[in-house]
Amino acid sequence: MKKDIKINDLIVKSGEKISRIITVPGTTYELPITVINGVEDGKVFLATAGVHGCEYPGIQALVELAQEIEPEEVYGAIIFIQAVNSPALYGRRAYICPADEENKNYNHISPGNKNGTTAERVSAFIFDEIVPQCDFHVDMHSGDIVEDLEEFIAVCATEDDAMRDFCIEVAKHTCFTHRIISHGRRELYNSSAIDRGVPGLLFERGGQGILNWDEVERDKDDIISICQSLEILGGEPYDNSDGQIFYPRHYWDEAHHTGLFYKFVETGDEVKKGQKLGEIRDIFGNLLEEITAVYDGRIKISNNTMGVSKGDDTFMYGNTRESD
Ligand SMILES: [Zn+2]
Repeated sequence: MKKDIKINDLIVKSGEKISRIITVPGTTYELPITVINGVEDGKVFLATAGVHGCEYPGIQALVELAQEIEPEEVYGAIIFIQAVNSPALYGRRAYICPADEENKNYNHISPGNKNGTTAERVSAFIFDEIVPQCDFHVDMHSGDIVEDLEEFIAVCATEDDAMRDFCIEVAKHTCFTHRIISHGRRELYNSSAIDRGVPGLLFERGGQGILNWDEVERDKDDIISICQSLEILGGEPYDNSDGQIFYPRHYWDEAHHTGLFYKFVETGDEVKKGQKLGEIRDIFGNLLEEITAVYDGRIKISNNTMGVSKGDDTFMYGNTRESD
């Protein structure tokens, strides 16, 4: 007999779809969730969105998919968390969780701490109660309000070669043209792979606080295609095995000064090692720092704000060569 999906006091039986808010134990934090438990056996798929609350296309994609997919179509089960960080969504805040006592960023604290701050408890709830039930996890992001982004899919650089190769194969069933390897550790999808042994991917599509409906459709298509590749949904997955450009490494540049940020390249530009990408000046116009490329690459994310604080990200660019 096919098993129930149990998440705290939520029990979803075979053939049921339930959407509701769960109050995370030990907090007053409200987590929206939809569980679609299929009639037939199969894998369990998890998609999360809104870890950063103003990254809209992924949130909207899950709002729609949760309404559209019915249990009769599902082999196994599908779990959607439409907005992990709903306080930031409704509070219009970039990066951080405003309900957290220390304004923590969910992508810096996975897999959480059930005795920690509010966001750490929410993270622990996801990683202790939900992720272990799942076979695959996709975390859906965009550039945040201040970020101009060229879309890409990211694969965790786990030490488990078989898992990494499997994630790459699944990533090829999406329409993303650009694929990067991430050496991150505390993001949700990296933590799923490293801490819980659940393979995962990260979508980066959209940005600047824009709800772009073409991006929503591509996010939906890619989630469906991944579920098809995992045989959770019927139909043929998209095949992009020849179409993805691979970046084995990428570089985040951080501002070393607080000041005025000027950029000389745009997202999507190809840049050369040593090329001047931008500069930071003080309020009187004096040069504080020049930002130059550490290797040949392609600008994937660039900051859009005039003012920056020391430590803020300015550019992220991918490098298509192993060495230069
Ligand atoms: Zn994000």
